Order: sequence, then structure tokens, then C-alpha cells
Amino acid sequence: LEDLLKNKELLVSAALVAGDWVKTAPSGKTFDVLNPSTGDVITALPDLGVDETKTAIDAAYTAQKAWAAKTGKERSAVLRKLYDLMVANADDLGAILTAEMGKPLAEAKGEILYGASFIEWFAEEAKRVYGDVIPGHQPDKRIVVLKQPVGVVASITPWNFPNAMIARKLGPALAVGCAFISKPAGETPLSALAMAKLAIEAGVPKGILSVITSKSSSAIGQEFCSNDKVRKITFTGSTEVGRILMRQSADQIKKTSMELGGNAPFIVFDDADLDAAVEGAMISKYRNNGQTCVCANRIYVQSGVYDAFAEKLAAAVGKMKIGDGFGDGVTTGPLISEDAVEKVEDHIADATSKGAKVITGGKRHELGGTFFEPTILTGVTRDMKVAGEETFGPVAPLFKFDDVEDVIEQANDTIFGLASYFYARDLSKVWRVAEALEYGMVGVNTGLISTEVAPFGGVKQSGQGREGSKYGCDDYLEMKYVCLGGI
Ligand code: ADP
Repeated sequence: LEDLLKNKELLVSAALVAGDWVKTAPSGKTFDVLNPSTGDVITALPDLGVDETKTAIDAAYTAQKAWAAKTGKERSAVLRKLYDLMVANADDLGAILTAEMGKPLAEAKGEILYGASFIEWFAEEAKRVYGDVIPGHQPDKRIVVLKQPVGVVASITPWNFPNAMIARKLGPALAVGCAFISKPAGETPLSALAMAKLAIEAGVPKGILSVITSKSSSAIGQEFCSNDKVRKITFTGSTEVGRILMRQSADQIKKTSMELGGNAPFIVFDDADLDAAVEGAMISKYRNNGQTCVCANRIYVQSGVYDAFAEKLAAAVGKMKIGDGFGDGVTTGPLISEDAVEKVEDHIADATSKGAKVITGGKRHELGGTFFEPTILTGVTRDMKVAGEETFGPVAPLFKFDDVEDVIEQANDTIFGLASYFYARDLSKVWRVAEALEYGMVGVNTGLISTEVAPFGGVKQSGQGREGSKYGCDDYLEMKYVCLGGI
């Protein structure tokens, strides 16, 4: 990996604690970061614990006051510089990401630019954190609403978007004047450290940003939740871990933002443009090898186009190229871990035991390791695991339906409510279905909805809070009402 990098300093083998690069843990413990395509060790990092987390929190708590006191324009300039540095170093950041996570290089670089777009967006928003003036309720009263940063923010993020999941939180937090402590996933800390390196270069003051490296997150998460200097937990990951963090945050009534699991329905109606629907399904289902929280998990196809859709989808899947993310023309890398492969296998076995048919793929790829064949299942029904659980892998289960009301009922029959998609052309149906889907996001005639300009987030047990857009700063702000009397 080092040979590939123009700026070798971006491959950092140290944590960032309170402004200092820490190469060894006081305990002396380290953990290896692996390349999932090859199993090779990329580097070892210090396995930090609660004490170093406390040091980072103390420093953040102190430094945050001065950061918040700066003008929005001053913070904006620092974020803009970070954006410029991310774009200038996108090739290197992409290579580090591919090495630790496995996604193809072009997709990794795409993620870097996507992550950078949030830093750019919030650099702009930093200058526009407006309050309100409200006409008073009595003749001598005037009411003003101030927006102030919540304070120290602690972030826990997963491995599937090692850069962007952090950038979406870091951007608004720094823009409004918060300090930020990141606990990246143990699998993929190198992208976080590389971005931190650039953030320091961009002028983020000492103590305002820390990156705690550790194989596991639970002890550090517990400290985040129980330390009263931390005012907010922002988390992206599974609903299961989100519940733990919310429970742990309850004692101190900490603010939380939760981007949790999904179980996205992808509905193809008879009147859909079928080729467009196939293209959308390919992006929504197989992007990142099915490992995104907005990936189509259940594909409902109306009976009139079911067979044609399955056939076209299988043809498109046949063009995918599985391999090492650094390989030429590779569209799809490995799954992140053996556990991930086992879950995919379990979902396929469960479905086929209940009558589903594998029309393409269905097993581990001949490349070995955690590579898996992109899979399509037909004849899928709602009693199968794929209907209720997030597969998080390259399996497209095709359900057949006849009736609009019925498919809406099935689509909503889940504890999750993150992304949903459907393809149709009838305007009144488009509008009615979009309204009826109990999801935070609906893609109509598109399989790709993520952008920094729109509010990303879920309803039901997919979470709370929104990332990106003009609403994205709200999660990092407190509202203060000031009543001026005796005017
Ligand atoms: P995923 O399946 O996407 O890895 P997880 O919710 O398991 O989703 O993990 C998301 C992040 O949460 C990871 O960084 C992981 O290390 C962290 N995590 C897992 N368990 C806990 C916990 N008990 N407390 C805090 N963080 C945790």
C-alpha cells in the first residue's frame, strides 16, 4: 500500500489523542488492521482504552469553548481547507480505504469525494447558523432564540463507509463549534486517521479532534455515554448497538443521533421502465457488495413483469467482476468478514429450504476468502429470513406481488424505516406510494439517493436525526430562548 501513496504520511500508525499522535498504548497492546481481499496485515495500531478516551474528552471539553467562540466564517475556512485537502489527496485516501475495507478503488475514491462533499457543505453552512427573533408576548418583552453548539460530541462509526460515515458527522459538528471524538470501527481506522491528519493540516485546533483507535468499541462507548463532559453521542451502525448506546445515554439524558439498520424495499410496478429499474436495482442492491444500510434488501416485482425483470437482472449481474479492489475493472470486492459471509449463506439456505430458487450465484466465490457470488433468489416469500432481516450482502431476493395495497403493507411490515425505492410511471400512484411508505427516504425511479444536500435518516427503529442538508446542523445545536424584559 505504501508504494501506491503519493503522500505516505497519510498512512498513520498512531491514534490522535488530545492533539498528540500516540504510537503505543500505555498497556502496550496493539491490534492489526487487515486487508480483507488478501488477509495481509496493513499495519498495527495502539489498542487504546478508557484512560486515553478520558484524556481526549478532557482536552475536547477545554478546547471547545475557544472553537465555539470563533466566528462561523473562521470555522468555515478551516473546513473548506479540509475539503480542499481531501479532494487533493483523494487518490491516496481512496487507496487506504480500499486496502482496509476491500471496496474497488474507483468506488473508494467516490466515497472520499462523497465524504468531502459533506465537509464542503457544512463549511458553507457554518456561516448560516441562524437564530430567531419572536415578537414578545407582552408589550415590554422581546424574545430571541440563539443556536449554540451542544459541546463535546462522541462518534462511533462502522466499517462499510470508513470515511464518509465520519465526514457526515464531523462536518456539522465542527461547523457549529462542537469538539469531536471519533471511535472508528476496529476494522477500518486508517481512513479516519488519514482524514484526521488532513484536518490538523487544515487548522483544526489541538484537542478539537481526537481519533481513538481500538479493536473493540464497547468500553470506549460506555465511557462516551457515562462521561458528563460528552454532551452528544452520534452513532452509525446496527439497531442492536444503537439500542445499547441509547440505554447507556439515558442516565445522563444525553442527546443522541442514530443512523441504524435498514431493510429497504425496492418495488417494481408493472408500468415501470424495466431497464431503468434493473439499473437502479444493481446500484441499490450490489453497491458496496450489498453492505450499505440503504441497500435494497427486499425486491418486490409486480407479477406482469416479474419474469422479465429477473431475467434482465441476472444478465446485469453476469457482468459484475468480483475481485481484489485494486484489480483492473473490478466492480465488487470481498465481504468484510467471515461472519458476514456466514450470514449471507444462512439467509440463502433458509430461503431455499422454504422454496426459493437460486437463479444466479448462491455460494462462495472461487477466489476464496470472503468473496461471494452475487446472488438472485426467485420465489421468495415473507416467511423467509430475507424478508425480516438485513442481509448486508450481495443477495437479491425477488418477491412477486399483484396488488398495490398489498405491496405497501408488505414493504412497511418491518421494524426498520430507513430507505425505500420504487419504480413506476403513473403519477398518482407515484405520489400515493411515496406518501404511504413508512421510511425516512424514498427513491422514486432511482436507486441512488445519497447526497450531502438532502436529509439522510430513518424512522421507526432505523434511528433518529438527519445527516446532510440544511437540517444537518440541527443535531449538533441546542436552542436557547432568551426573554428580554423591561424594554
Ligand atoms: P456493523 O454490523 O455495521 O459493524 P455494529 O453496530 O456492530 O454494526 O458496529 C458499528 C460500530 O459500533 C462499530 O464501530 C463497532 O465497533 C461499534 N460497537 C459495537 N458494539 C458496541 C458497543 N456495545 N458499544 C459501543 N460501540 C459498539
